[in-house]
Amino acid sequence: MGSSWGHAAARLDPETIDEHDRWGRRCSARRCVEPATHVTSYRYVTGRAGRVSWAERRVCDSHAARFAQRYQVEIGAAPAQAGPRPVDGALPALYRGELRRVQGHPAGGWWLSLARAGRGGLASWTVPEFTAASGAGLDEAVHAADVFLARSRMLVAQEGWQHAGERATATLVPVTDTPAWRGISWACTVACSPDALGKATWYLERQLAAEFAPLREPLGNTGMDLHRAVRTAQRYLERTGWTLAGEWTSSGQVAVVHANPPARPAATRPAAAPAAAATPTLSSGLGRPPAGRRPAPLHTPVR
Ligand SMILES: [Zn+2]
Repeated sequence: MGSSWGHAAARLDPETIDEHDRWGRRCSARRCVEPATHVTSYRYVTGRAGRVSWAERRVCDSHAARFAQRYQVEIGAAPAQAGPRPVDGALPALYRGELRRVQGHPAGGWWLSLARAGRGGLASWTVPEFTAASGAGLDEAVHAADVFLARSRMLVAQEGWQHAGERATATLVPVTDTPAWRGISWACTVACSPDALGKATWYLERQLAAEFAPLREPLGNTGMDLHRAVRTAQRYLERTGWTLAGEWTSSGQVAVVHANPPARPAATRPAAAPAAAATPTLSSGLGRPPAGRRPAPLHTPVR
């Protein structure tokens, strides 16, 4: 590393400090185990080409103070919290779906590809985990696609699939935008389970109904208990525009609440379809919530 300049130090906002703490991220100074509460940064020049790089570290109160004194800089205030609301990227969006036969494949498999609607261009991609039974005809492949898309992406074909030879296309809308499911609250569950490496980790899982895979949000794995996990989950839901539809209830180390996702912005809503065509007809029967789908509430309110 060559010379460095442009030193700065600032306090992190409380939300970020709390997040570092929940994931056990500590001060990055050697051998320091204090909580990370500040960010220090500087620019430096590397190599013969004189490339300017920028580095930042998360450090504790005392290491931030030491840095500020050494480089004669003032410690800046935490950035204001009010910013644009983060978008809940896990929620489904509008897509175009296309099913076509795999060319030159003896087993006669099917390819399912998706494209974000309204983006134009060539932004489409194949969904590798989709499979239809070997030797399946177009109708069977469409049925398999319906079940797959509902389960894994919460998407349904708005007006069914348009068949054209060995190919079918559909406009896919989020299940939550269909009349049958709109306004139905999701079961939000906070619980602890091992992560991929076996470390006990708290998660928020949101599930509309058993036939749809849940959305999973990791909350933390250090210094956590149910109470802190619920507080974190609640802040996450509020920040991303979800509305609680009741009180948290808990049983053992599991807490549950019902909540509604944010309304989709009007601009990306599909053009209002005639009422008759608006209810997707699904051979798999996924277009309608089954009666009595709401899970029984647990007891013991969490406070
Ligand atoms: Zn430190």
